[in-house]
This record gives sequence, structure tokens and C-alpha cells, in this order.
Amino acid sequence: MRERGLSPGGHGPVAVLRCKYGAYRPDQSCNHPTRGWLYDVKIARPKRTPTLAQEWALDRAMAARSTCPQCRRRYYFCLPLRTQGCCDPCARGYEPSSDTYFASTAPVTHRLAA
Ligand SMILES: [Zn+2]
Repeated sequence: MRERGLSPGGHGPVAVLRCKYGAYRPDQSCNHPTRGWLYDVKIARPKRTPTLAQEWALDRAMAARSTCPQCRRRYYFCLPLRTQGCCDPCARGYEPSSDTYFASTAPVTHRLAA
């Protein structure tokens, strides 16, 4: 009887974590929530593989939108490819600062699949 009143608390943490994940980057849904993913994978159960596959597909789409076709750099944000066709540095002819794109060509998400 009293246990019934306590039991909902047992399901709390997962919901809270997922909420936090959702609110992790409320300002830029375009951004790559790498840290949020790691967290999500850790608490996720094996059953969630389909969801992970969906996220992978999503990441591939994101990669296409955040990778400049001219300089092949992948940025942390989406590029104005539809209007500009390339990243700002390419369009305006300057070197982007190294903290705006992935320094390594190996995507961080690769480790999640291993
Ligand atoms: Zn570029």
C-alpha cells in the first residue's frame, strides 16, 4: 500500500535524464549533442538499438548539413548550404578558427558504434 506511493520514484531518474538531455541544447537543435549521446547510450538498454540507428541516420544527415563541400571541414553547426552552398570562411575567404570545426577527420560518434 505505502509502497505504491513510493514506487513512482523508481522511474524518476530515467525520465529526468531524458528531459535534461532534451534541454541540453535548447538554443541550437542543430548542434551535435555529443556529450548528451554518451550519456544516453550509457543509460540506454540494448532494446534501444533501433532508436540508436535512427540517431545514426540523423547524424549522417547532420553531417551532410554541417560539412562544407568546398573545404570538406565539418563544423559544429549547420552551414547555410541551401543559400550559400559552403561555409562562411569559404564564402568570404578567410581561415575559420579551429574551434568551429572538427580538427580530426574521424567523427567523434564513431566510438559510440564500436
Ligand atoms: Zn568551406
